[in-house]
Amino acid sequence: MDCIFCQIIAGKIPSEILYRDEEVIAFRDINPAAPVHLLIVPKKHILSLAHLSQTDLPLVEHMINVANQLAREEGVSENGYRLVINCGREAGQEVPHLHLHLLGGQRLSRMG
Ligand code: 5GP
Ligand code: ZN
Repeated sequence: MDCIFCQIIAGKIPSEILYRDEEVIAFRDINPAAPVHLLIVPKKHILSLAHLSQTDLPLVEHMINVANQLAREEGVSENGYRLVINCGREAGQEVPHLHLHLLGGQRLSRMG
């Protein structure tokens, strides 16, 4: 098991975990790009968005729900926040385990 996020899920690598249930886990990004930078990660090892199957779609819905809840808890819900999923090399995906970034707490720069 050489996947960093699978190791965080298994508790083998420490992280600041903010939420955990049967399906997903959420923790603070180790190298934050904004004052609030969380990662919402499915426990299932899915390589990327491009590897999602139809049966995984409820999981993605759940990830978005958890992100919205965490945005409220982190106090960024009113001012605004961004959810990002990088997929593949040109999008800058570094960890080959599907994850949703929650970014907020400052005016975010333009994308692309
Ligand atoms: P990606 O570039 O794949 O979309 O995002 C991967 C994110 O995971 C990066 O923002 C990076 O800072 C974060 N990250 C990588 N390794 C670790 C780690 O060991 N712990 C935590 N908390 N975040 C990590
Ligand atoms: Zn994994």
